[in-house]
Amino acid sequence: MYLVLIMNQKSDDSSRGIGVKKAKEEKQEDLGKHIGTKVVHAGEKTNPLTHGVVTSIDLSTTFAYDTAKEWADVFYHGKQGFAYSRHGNPTRATFEKKIAILEKGEASVGFSSGMAAIATTFSTFLSPGDEIIVTDRCYPGTRHLLNQYFKKWGFIIHFVDSTKNDNVSKKITKNTKLIHMECPANPTLSLCDIEAIGKIAKEINAKYVFDNTFASPINQNPIDFGVDVVVHSVTKYLSGHSDVLGGATVSTTADRDEIMNTAVYFGGVMAPFDAWLSIRGIKTLEVRVKRHNENGQAIAEFLEDHPKVREVYYPGLKSHPQHKLAKKQMKGFGGMVSFCVGKSDDDGGTFLNSLKIIKKASSLGSTSSLAQASGSMIYLEFTEEEKRAIGINPGFIRFSTGIEDKNDLIEDLEQALKKI
Ligand SMILES: *Cc1c(COP(=O)(O)O)cnc(C)c1O
Repeated sequence: MYLVLIMNQKSDDSSRGIGVKKAKEEKQEDLGKHIGTKVVHAGEKTNPLTHGVVTSIDLSTTFAYDTAKEWADVFYHGKQGFAYSRHGNPTRATFEKKIAILEKGEASVGFSSGMAAIATTFSTFLSPGDEIIVTDRCYPGTRHLLNQYFKKWGFIIHFVDSTKNDNVSKKITKNTKLIHMECPANPTLSLCDIEAIGKIAKEINAKYVFDNTFASPINQNPIDFGVDVVVHSVTKYLSGHSDVLGGATVSTTADRDEIMNTAVYFGGVMAPFDAWLSIRGIKTLEVRVKRHNENGQAIAEFLEDHPKVREVYYPGLKSHPQHKLAKKQMKGFGGMVSFCVGKSDDDGGTFLNSLKIIKKASSLGSTSSLAQASGSMIYLEFTEEEKRAIGINPGFIRFSTGIEDKNDLIEDLEQALKKI
């Protein structure tokens, strides 16, 4: 056994956390003080059998031992090791250790998608009748999951404008068991005060879940501000190259064990190849996010000065209504920029179709710049009033800056703006 493992094979109470405790007792390799070093080395070791510097992919779904007792010790009695990959896999365990260190938690679970991480987390900590407070700016998939499924299963869901802490406090009842926040948030990159809402959650002993996909652990560490469970769509900045669908939770070991127990039976765990691609992607996370931040800021400033652009939403702009809060809780302002061009959704469509380097596609956090326009690609299911209520005005564009040279991106935006 050469890997440093964070894993828990068993799913009954008797063995919870055993694998994790053992891993913690092992001597931590020197990861360096800075996150730029940690992204490269955290969770990984030179393979002592092969001396390979790259973590191996272990595609085995099942693991054999010399005796039945040895197998049963791992599967049933919490001995460190692997028996079946839905419960634990060496490559996934390495990914989990890496992301747990980067998000300053104790332990993690790797999922097959961000939605699997979110659905499994909610299912772990809630029972029918419980009340949930959720930011109304949450990822549309999260909103759909809650409205279409959790609601009919008997959960009570309160969507609130989380830019004001009071809106959260006002919805608290004795049945509030979970608060789910997310920021910077779709579509206008609005923020919530992560720490203030953490205090509210703590007072009532509710589980505080936070979707940190847009910021990534380079720009924001919600656990520093009192969050219990950080969820990620690994599909975005973490894996970073639009070639992995993945998710993760980061939490205490105790919460992780509970989430893992649910994950074992819901089954949406991360595949070894996706874990390996994510480990590889994360090695350049700090370098990429620095570039995304630089591009985001430069493009937001360019757009703000352009006569054909009416509104620009970017937490790094002084004009962002929560710029001060952004400086308090973020280390960088990210690669997502939203803005409104021309006078109408038709202008937005013309602008979008005129882009050359920037691709017309959903998703975000890719090396490639990606853009979408409301009216033709996003929010088609919303009425005009619903769109206005969340800040989507005519000609709205959501732009995920890639890591291309900012001068080429600005030139592309400029030539497309000339077409309207
Ligand atoms: C994409 C996304 C998700 C869902 O992740 P998948 O990997 O697509 O399942 C959840 N939250 C946010 C903020 C996202 O951007």
